[in-house]
Amino acid sequence: MSKRDYYDVLGVGQQASGEEIKKAYRKKALKYHPDKNPGNKEAEDNFKEAAEAYEVLRDPQKRNIYDQFGHEGLQGTGFTGFGGFEDIFSAFGDIFEDFFGFGNRMRGQRTTARPGADLLYDLHIMFSEGVFGTEKEIDIPTSTHCESCEGKGREPGTDEELCPLCHGQGQILQSQGFFRISTTCHRCGGQGRIITNPCQSCSGTGQQKITKKVLVKVPAGVDTGTRLRIANQGEGGYRGGPPGDLYVRLHVEPHEFYERDGSHLYCQIPISMVQAALGDTIEIQTLDGSQSLKIPPGTHSGKIIRIRGEGVPNLRGYGRGDLHLDIQVKTPENLNKRQEELLREFAEIENGKKSSQKLFKFWSRGGKKKASKPKH
Ligand SMILES: [Zn+2]
Ligand SMILES: [Zn+2]
Repeated sequence: MSKRDYYDVLGVGQQASGEEIKKAYRKKALKYHPDKNPGNKEAEDNFKEAAEAYEVLRDPQKRNIYDQFGHEGLQGTGFTGFGGFEDIFSAFGDIFEDFFGFGNRMRGQRTTARPGADLLYDLHIMFSEGVFGTEKEIDIPTSTHCESCEGKGREPGTDEELCPLCHGQGQILQSQGFFRISTTCHRCGGQGRIITNPCQSCSGTGQQKITKKVLVKVPAGVDTGTRLRIANQGEGGYRGGPPGDLYVRLHVEPHEFYERDGSHLYCQIPISMVQAALGDTIEIQTLDGSQSLKIPPGTHSGKIIRIRGEGVPNLRGYGRGDLHLDIQVKTPENLNKRQEELLREFAEIENGKKSSQKLFKFWSRGGKKKASKPKH
Protein backbone atom coordinates (compact mmCIF):
# COMPACT_ATOMS: atom_id res chain seq x y z
CA MET A 1 0.00 0.00 0.00
CA SER A 2 1.50 3.31 -1.04
CA LYS A 3 1.47 6.01 1.56
CA ARG A 4 -0.07 9.41 0.94
CA ASP A 5 2.02 12.52 1.22
CA TYR A 6 2.02 13.71 4.83
CA TYR A 7 1.38 17.32 3.85
CA ASP A 8 -1.63 16.23 1.81
CA VAL A 9 -2.90 14.14 4.70
CA LEU A 10 -2.99 17.17 6.99
CA GLY A 11 -3.97 19.52 4.18
CA VAL A 12 -1.09 21.95 4.70
CA GLY A 13 1.61 23.35 2.41
CA GLN A 14 5.28 22.36 2.59
CA GLN A 15 6.13 25.70 4.18
CA ALA A 16 3.60 25.30 6.98
CA SER A 17 4.79 26.35 10.44
CA GLY A 18 4.77 24.02 13.44
CA GLU A 19 1.72 25.84 14.77
CA GLU A 20 -0.15 25.44 11.47
CA ILE A 21 0.66 21.74 11.41
CA LYS A 22 -0.59 21.33 14.96
CA LYS A 23 -3.80 23.16 14.11
CA ALA A 24 -4.36 21.09 10.98
CA TYR A 25 -3.83 17.90 12.94
CA ARG A 26 -6.24 19.03 15.63
CA LYS A 27 -8.92 19.46 12.97
CA LYS A 28 -8.37 16.03 11.45
CA ALA A 29 -8.15 14.31 14.81
CA LEU A 30 -11.41 15.91 15.95
CA LYS A 31 -13.12 14.83 12.77
CA TYR A 32 -11.94 11.22 12.81
CA HIS A 33 -11.72 10.62 16.54
CA PRO A 34 -12.91 7.07 17.37
CA ASP A 35 -15.25 8.42 20.07
CA LYS A 36 -17.08 10.33 17.37
CA ASN A 37 -17.01 7.52 14.83
CA PRO A 38 -17.55 4.28 16.69
CA GLY A 39 -17.09 1.25 14.47
CA ASN A 40 -16.20 3.32 11.39
CA LYS A 41 -13.20 1.66 9.73
CA GLU A 42 -12.55 4.48 7.28
CA ALA A 43 -12.50 7.12 10.04
CA GLU A 44 -10.18 4.87 12.00
CA ASP A 45 -7.72 4.71 9.09
CA ASN A 46 -7.89 8.46 8.54
CA PHE A 47 -7.32 9.03 12.25
CA LYS A 48 -4.21 6.84 12.23
CA GLU A 49 -2.96 8.38 9.01
CA ALA A 50 -3.27 11.91 10.42
CA ALA A 51 -1.51 10.89 13.62
CA GLU A 52 1.35 9.41 11.66
CA ALA A 53 1.71 12.52 9.50
CA TYR A 54 1.67 14.73 12.57
CA GLU A 55 4.21 12.57 14.37
CA VAL A 56 6.66 13.14 11.52
CA LEU A 57 5.95 16.77 10.61
CA ARG A 58 5.98 18.10 14.19
CA ASP A 59 9.53 16.82 14.65
CA PRO A 60 11.99 19.10 12.75
CA GLN A 61 14.51 16.28 12.37
CA LYS A 62 12.04 13.76 10.98
CA ARG A 63 10.39 16.42 8.87
CA ASN A 64 13.76 17.29 7.35
CA ILE A 65 14.44 13.67 6.46
CA TYR A 66 10.94 13.30 5.04
CA ASP A 67 11.31 16.48 2.97
CA GLN A 68 14.52 15.16 1.42
CA PHE A 69 13.89 11.45 1.10
CA GLY A 70 10.18 10.90 1.42
CA HIS A 71 8.63 7.91 3.19
CA GLU A 72 11.58 5.69 2.44
CA GLY A 73 13.95 8.02 4.19
CA LEU A 74 12.09 7.53 7.46
CA GLN A 75 12.47 3.78 7.45
CA GLY A 76 16.05 4.18 8.46
CA THR A 77 15.00 6.10 11.59
CA GLY A 78 12.95 3.18 12.87
CA PHE A 79 9.68 5.06 12.57
CA THR A 80 7.09 3.25 10.48
CA GLY A 81 3.85 4.61 11.83
CA PHE A 82 1.60 3.68 14.71
CA GLY A 83 0.37 0.23 15.52
CA GLY A 84 -2.98 1.24 17.00
CA PHE A 85 -4.96 3.78 18.91
CA GLU A 86 -3.21 3.14 22.15
CA ASP A 87 0.11 4.15 20.64
CA ILE A 88 -1.40 7.34 19.32
CA PHE A 89 -3.06 8.22 22.62
CA SER A 90 0.16 7.44 24.45
CA ALA A 91 2.24 9.54 22.11
CA PHE A 92 -0.05 12.56 22.10
CA GLY A 93 -1.75 12.03 25.43
CA ASP A 94 -0.95 15.47 26.82
CA ILE A 95 -2.01 17.18 23.59
CA PHE A 96 -5.20 15.19 23.47
CA GLU A 97 -6.25 16.56 26.81
CA ASP A 98 -6.57 20.07 25.42
CA PHE A 99 -7.57 18.86 21.97
CA PHE A 100 -10.47 16.90 23.24
CA GLY A 101 -12.38 18.93 25.73
CA PHE A 102 -15.44 17.46 24.09
CA GLY A 103 -13.91 14.01 24.07
CA ASN A 104 -13.49 14.01 27.83
CA ARG A 105 -17.08 15.09 28.19
CA MET A 106 -18.28 12.30 25.97
CA ARG A 107 -16.21 9.77 27.78
CA GLY A 108 -17.43 11.09 31.13
CA GLN A 109 -21.04 10.66 30.13
CA ARG A 110 -20.51 7.18 28.90
CA THR A 111 -18.53 5.77 31.68
CA THR A 112 -19.21 7.62 34.90
CA ALA A 113 -22.31 7.46 37.06
CA ARG A 114 -23.32 10.89 38.24
CA PRO A 115 -26.41 12.46 39.82
CA GLY A 116 -29.04 14.15 37.64
CA ALA A 117 -29.33 17.93 37.65
CA ASP A 118 -31.72 19.85 39.89
CA LEU A 119 -34.52 21.52 37.96
CA LEU A 120 -36.20 24.86 38.63
CA TYR A 121 -39.80 25.45 37.61
CA ASP A 122 -41.61 28.79 37.81
CA LEU A 123 -45.24 28.32 38.84
CA HIS A 124 -47.80 31.14 38.68
CA ILE A 125 -50.81 30.87 40.99
CA MET A 126 -53.83 32.99 41.92
CA PHE A 127 -53.83 35.14 45.03
CA SER A 128 -56.41 32.93 46.76
CA GLU A 129 -54.39 29.80 45.90
CA GLY A 130 -51.40 31.31 47.66
CA VAL A 131 -53.55 32.07 50.69
CA PHE A 132 -55.35 28.78 51.06
CA GLY A 133 -52.99 26.40 49.24
CA THR A 134 -53.68 24.33 46.16
CA GLU A 135 -52.57 21.34 44.14
CA LYS A 136 -51.19 21.73 40.63
CA GLU A 137 -50.12 19.17 38.09
CA ILE A 138 -47.18 20.48 36.10
CA ASP A 139 -45.34 19.17 33.04
CA ILE A 140 -41.60 18.92 33.51
CA PRO A 141 -39.43 18.39 30.44
CA THR A 142 -36.68 16.16 31.73
CA SER A 143 -34.80 13.00 31.01
CA THR A 144 -34.95 9.56 32.46
CA HIS A 145 -33.21 6.22 32.09
CA CYS A 146 -33.13 5.05 28.49
CA GLU A 147 -35.56 2.15 28.35
CA SER A 148 -33.73 0.47 25.50
CA CYS A 149 -30.42 0.02 27.35
CA GLU A 150 -31.77 0.42 30.91
CA GLY A 151 -29.56 3.47 31.31
CA LYS A 152 -26.35 1.53 30.75
CA GLY A 153 -25.50 3.45 27.58
CA ARG A 154 -24.47 0.39 25.56
CA GLU A 155 -26.42 -1.44 22.90
CA PRO A 156 -28.45 -4.25 24.47
CA GLY A 157 -26.69 -7.60 24.15
CA THR A 158 -23.24 -6.02 23.99
CA ASP A 159 -20.75 -5.71 26.79
CA GLU A 160 -18.26 -3.15 27.93
CA GLU A 161 -14.76 -3.90 26.84
CA LEU A 162 -11.46 -3.59 28.57
CA CYS A 163 -10.02 -0.15 27.85
CA PRO A 164 -7.29 -0.78 25.24
CA LEU A 165 -5.28 2.22 26.35
CA CYS A 166 -4.87 1.48 30.07
CA HIS A 167 -5.68 -2.25 29.85
CA GLY A 168 -8.31 -1.88 32.53
CA GLN A 169 -6.05 -0.05 34.98
CA GLY A 170 -7.78 3.33 34.62
CA GLN A 171 -4.34 4.93 34.96
CA ILE A 172 -1.60 5.63 32.49
CA LEU A 173 2.07 5.82 33.30
CA GLN A 174 3.94 8.41 31.29
CA SER A 175 7.66 8.99 31.24
CA GLN A 176 8.85 12.56 31.08
CA GLY A 177 12.60 12.68 31.38
CA PHE A 178 13.48 11.28 34.78
CA PHE A 179 9.90 11.33 35.97
CA ARG A 180 7.20 8.78 35.60
CA ILE A 181 3.80 10.30 35.99
CA SER A 182 0.59 8.39 36.50
CA THR A 183 -2.51 10.09 35.09
CA THR A 184 -6.15 9.10 34.83
CA CYS A 185 -6.76 7.33 31.56
CA HIS A 186 -8.52 9.81 29.27
CA ARG A 187 -9.93 7.11 27.04
CA CYS A 188 -12.07 5.46 29.73
CA GLY A 189 -12.15 8.28 32.29
CA GLY A 190 -10.44 6.02 34.82
CA GLN A 191 -13.13 3.35 34.65
CA GLY A 192 -10.90 0.78 32.98
CA ARG A 193 -13.74 -0.22 30.65
CA ILE A 194 -15.21 1.42 27.58
CA ILE A 195 -18.40 1.10 25.61
CA THR A 196 -17.66 0.13 22.04
CA ASN A 197 -21.29 -0.22 20.95
CA PRO A 198 -23.19 2.78 22.27
CA CYS A 199 -26.96 2.36 22.59
CA GLN A 200 -28.58 3.58 19.37
CA SER A 201 -31.70 5.06 20.95
CA CYS A 202 -29.81 7.29 23.41
CA SER A 203 -26.43 7.62 21.62
CA GLY A 204 -24.75 6.17 24.65
CA THR A 205 -25.91 8.73 27.20
CA GLY A 206 -28.18 6.20 28.92
CA GLN A 207 -30.95 8.79 29.01
CA GLN A 208 -34.05 9.69 27.06
CA LYS A 209 -36.06 12.91 26.98
CA ILE A 210 -39.53 12.77 28.47
CA THR A 211 -42.21 15.08 29.79
CA LYS A 212 -42.96 14.16 33.36
CA LYS A 213 -46.18 15.05 35.16
CA VAL A 214 -45.57 16.06 38.75
CA LEU A 215 -48.23 16.90 41.33
CA VAL A 216 -47.19 19.96 43.33
CA LYS A 217 -48.85 20.46 46.69
CA VAL A 218 -48.75 24.17 47.44
CA PRO A 219 -49.25 24.79 51.16
CA ALA A 220 -51.43 27.62 52.50
CA GLY A 221 -49.65 30.91 53.10
CA VAL A 222 -47.05 30.83 50.31
CA ASP A 223 -46.03 34.08 48.66
CA THR A 224 -44.07 35.16 45.59
CA GLY A 225 -40.52 33.91 45.98
CA THR A 226 -41.43 30.87 48.10
CA ARG A 227 -39.50 27.85 46.82
CA LEU A 228 -40.81 24.32 47.22
CA ARG A 229 -38.40 21.42 46.98
CA ILE A 230 -39.67 18.13 45.64
CA ALA A 231 -37.05 15.49 46.26
CA ASN A 232 -35.94 13.15 43.46
CA GLN A 233 -38.19 14.73 40.82
CA GLY A 234 -35.35 16.48 38.97
CA GLU A 235 -33.40 15.16 36.04
CA GLY A 236 -32.67 11.44 36.00
CA GLY A 237 -29.17 10.34 37.03
CA TYR A 238 -26.58 9.31 34.46
CA ARG A 239 -25.78 5.65 34.26
CA GLY A 240 -27.25 4.66 37.59
CA GLY A 241 -26.63 7.93 39.45
CA PRO A 242 -29.39 9.30 41.73
CA PRO A 243 -31.96 11.73 40.29
CA GLY A 244 -31.80 15.46 41.07
CA ASP A 245 -34.44 17.48 42.92
CA LEU A 246 -37.19 19.65 41.51
CA TYR A 247 -37.53 23.20 42.83
CA VAL A 248 -40.81 25.02 42.27
CA ARG A 249 -40.52 28.81 42.55
CA LEU A 250 -43.90 30.42 43.18
CA HIS A 251 -45.26 33.62 41.69
CA VAL A 252 -48.50 34.74 43.37
CA GLU A 253 -50.79 37.06 41.40
CA PRO A 254 -51.52 40.34 43.20
CA HIS A 255 -55.02 40.83 44.61
CA GLU A 256 -57.50 43.31 43.20
CA PHE A 257 -57.52 45.42 46.36
CA TYR A 258 -55.58 43.68 49.12
CA GLU A 259 -51.94 44.38 49.57
CA ARG A 260 -50.07 41.63 51.32
CA ASP A 261 -47.14 41.85 53.71
CA GLY A 262 -46.26 38.42 55.03
CA SER A 263 -49.43 37.14 56.67
CA HIS A 264 -51.03 40.59 57.07
CA LEU A 265 -53.38 42.19 54.57
CA TYR A 266 -53.93 45.88 53.97
CA CYS A 267 -56.59 47.76 52.08
CA GLN A 268 -58.27 51.13 51.92
CA ILE A 269 -62.00 51.50 52.61
CA PRO A 270 -63.55 54.67 51.21
CA ILE A 271 -66.55 56.02 53.16
CA SER A 272 -68.59 59.18 52.71
CA MET A 273 -68.36 62.24 54.89
CA VAL A 274 -71.85 61.47 56.20
CA GLN A 275 -70.97 57.86 57.06
CA ALA A 276 -67.88 59.16 58.85
CA ALA A 277 -69.87 61.68 60.85
CA LEU A 278 -72.98 59.67 61.64
CA GLY A 279 -71.50 56.18 61.68
CA ASP A 280 -72.72 53.27 59.58
CA THR A 281 -72.52 49.52 59.08
CA ILE A 282 -70.98 48.43 55.77
CA GLU A 283 -70.30 45.10 54.07
CA ILE A 284 -66.66 44.33 53.46
CA GLN A 285 -64.99 41.52 51.50
CA THR A 286 -62.71 39.27 53.49
CA LEU A 287 -60.70 36.32 52.18
CA ASP A 288 -63.34 33.94 53.43
CA GLY A 289 -66.37 35.82 52.13
CA SER A 290 -67.99 38.97 53.42
CA GLN A 291 -68.78 40.40 56.83
CA SER A 292 -70.32 43.56 58.22
CA LEU A 293 -68.12 46.28 59.63
CA LYS A 294 -69.33 48.94 62.06
CA ILE A 295 -68.10 52.46 61.35
CA PRO A 296 -68.44 54.37 64.62
CA PRO A 297 -69.85 57.93 64.51
CA GLY A 298 -67.12 60.56 64.26
CA THR A 299 -64.61 58.35 62.39
CA HIS A 300 -61.60 60.24 61.00
CA SER A 301 -59.89 59.67 57.69
CA GLY A 302 -56.81 57.53 58.19
CA LYS A 303 -58.24 55.49 61.06
CA ILE A 304 -57.03 51.89 60.90
CA ILE A 305 -59.51 49.21 61.82
CA ARG A 306 -57.82 45.88 62.45
CA ILE A 307 -59.75 42.63 62.12
CA ARG A 308 -57.80 39.89 63.84
CA GLY A 309 -57.33 36.53 62.13
CA GLU A 310 -58.70 37.63 58.75
CA GLY A 311 -55.29 37.76 57.12
CA VAL A 312 -53.24 35.04 55.42
CA PRO A 313 -52.52 31.71 57.15
CA ASN A 314 -48.98 31.49 58.45
CA LEU A 315 -46.87 29.29 56.17
CA ARG A 316 -45.47 27.45 59.19
CA GLY A 317 -48.92 26.39 60.18
CA TYR A 318 -49.88 28.48 63.21
CA GLY A 319 -52.64 31.09 63.10
CA ARG A 320 -53.46 33.77 60.61
CA GLY A 321 -52.43 37.37 60.17
CA ASP A 322 -54.75 40.35 60.49
CA LEU A 323 -56.72 42.42 58.05
CA HIS A 324 -55.93 46.14 58.32
CA LEU A 325 -58.57 48.50 56.96
CA ASP A 326 -57.45 52.06 56.30
CA ILE A 327 -60.57 54.25 56.45
CA GLN A 328 -60.55 57.06 53.89
CA VAL A 329 -63.21 59.74 54.16
CA LYS A 330 -64.17 61.06 50.76
CA THR A 331 -65.03 64.75 50.44
CA PRO A 332 -68.20 65.08 48.37
CA GLU A 333 -67.83 66.73 44.96
CA ASN A 334 -70.32 67.99 42.38
CA LEU A 335 -73.01 68.81 44.96
CA ASN A 336 -76.49 69.52 43.73
CA LYS A 337 -78.37 72.60 44.86
CA ARG A 338 -80.21 70.91 47.70
CA GLN A 339 -77.04 69.28 49.10
CA GLU A 340 -75.23 72.60 48.99
CA GLU A 341 -78.08 74.30 50.86
CA LEU A 342 -78.02 71.67 53.55
CA LEU A 343 -74.26 71.95 54.01
CA ARG A 344 -74.43 75.74 54.23
CA GLU A 345 -77.15 75.40 56.83
CA PHE A 346 -74.97 72.88 58.63
CA ALA A 347 -72.07 75.31 58.53
CA GLU A 348 -74.16 78.13 60.00
CA ILE A 349 -75.17 75.95 62.91
CA GLU A 350 -71.53 74.94 63.41
CA ASN A 351 -70.41 78.59 63.38
CA GLY A 352 -73.18 79.54 65.81
CA LYS A 353 -72.07 76.79 68.16
CA LYS A 354 -68.50 77.92 68.07
CA SER A 355 -68.99 81.69 67.85
CA SER A 356 -68.06 82.18 71.48
CA GLN A 357 -64.75 80.37 70.96
CA LYS A 358 -61.75 81.90 69.31
CA LEU A 359 -60.73 80.21 66.08
CA PHE A 360 -57.13 79.49 67.13
CA LYS A 361 -58.37 77.34 69.99
CA PHE A 362 -58.98 74.66 67.43
CA TRP A 363 -55.45 74.86 66.21
CA SER A 364 -53.08 72.31 67.53
CA ARG A 365 -49.41 71.47 67.44
CA GLY A 366 -48.43 69.57 64.33
CA GLY A 367 -47.00 69.67 60.89
CA LYS A 368 -43.39 68.88 60.34
CA LYS A 369 -41.95 72.27 59.40
CA LYS A 370 -41.17 74.76 62.13
CA ALA A 371 -41.40 78.42 61.20
CA SER A 372 -37.90 79.50 60.31
CA LYS A 373 -36.38 82.47 62.04
CA PRO A 374 -35.94 85.54 59.88
CA LYS A 375 -32.42 85.84 58.56
CA HIS A 376 -30.26 88.83 59.43
ZN1 LIG B 1 -29.91 3.71 25.62
ZN1 LIG C 1 -8.46 3.35 30.13
